[in-house]
Amino acid sequence: MQTVHVTKLKAVKLKLLPSSFEKDGEASPRQHLTCFLINGKVAVDAGSLAMAVTSEERTAIRDIVVTHAHLDHIAGLPLFIDDQFSELMEPVRIHATPDVIEILERDIFNWSVYPRFSELENNHGKVLEYRPFVQGSSFRVGNLLFESVEVNHKVPCSGFIISDDSSSIAFTGDTANMDSFWNAVANRDLSALLIECAFPNELAELAETSCHLTPATLATELAKFQDPNCDVFIINIKPSYREAVLEEIASLGMPRIKDLQVGRTYEWSRESFSQAT
Ligand SMILES: [Zn+2]
Repeated sequence: MQTVHVTKLKAVKLKLLPSSFEKDGEASPRQHLTCFLINGKVAVDAGSLAMAVTSEERTAIRDIVVTHAHLDHIAGLPLFIDDQFSELMEPVRIHATPDVIEILERDIFNWSVYPRFSELENNHGKVLEYRPFVQGSSFRVGNLLFESVEVNHKVPCSGFIISDDSSSIAFTGDTANMDSFWNAVANRDLSALLIECAFPNELAELAETSCHLTPATLATELAKFQDPNCDVFIINIKPSYREAVLEEIASLGMPRIKDLQVGRTYEWSRESFSQAT
């Protein structure tokens, strides 16, 4: 007798951590800070990292991948290390390009804004370790493969394709119009694309100056993305313009575009089928 087993492989899990709260203490959809948690233990950006993790997540996270050094993406980083300074059994590893590491050391961990943790040790050894990567290169963090892709922001900034053996997702970080990212994600069979859209159309000039997208320029960018089955999630909306941006995105008439909900764990996997007799 033949039986067919359907095996669901592991999934890439992603959660946007909260950074603002309503009167009742519930997470607000208006987010000031950016921090994604992948598979419960790797952070991408660290905006709300120290403030929004559970105690289990705080203990599990030892790798932080940084897209760029703008404050809304790194505000929680010094506090996250400070919180656990004496308990860390291994260093917190910051994966970033040399440009970003230089900014962190010069402008954040400079003994004036915060201690230079890269020069300090606790009883178990170093508390912070930099893992630089060259823009355009790939690196592994646990069982995740990160492929870095240059995007177009006011400061050096990376987008990433993040894969394990179950699926791949891509996200842009902060960016304006770009081509290298679209070339990198072409034909990759992505499960999800996360793309920024910071400002409404009426602030097109500000968006252009600060290298961000509006719904109009988002539509132009998505026309370069040739994967019709991939879900598209909007991230990094400036909180004061959230409603306006979402209204304008809805009027684009592109139903696959979704708003990434804060605090919800998304799982992406492809199902594989195996047969046994
Ligand atoms: Zn930025």
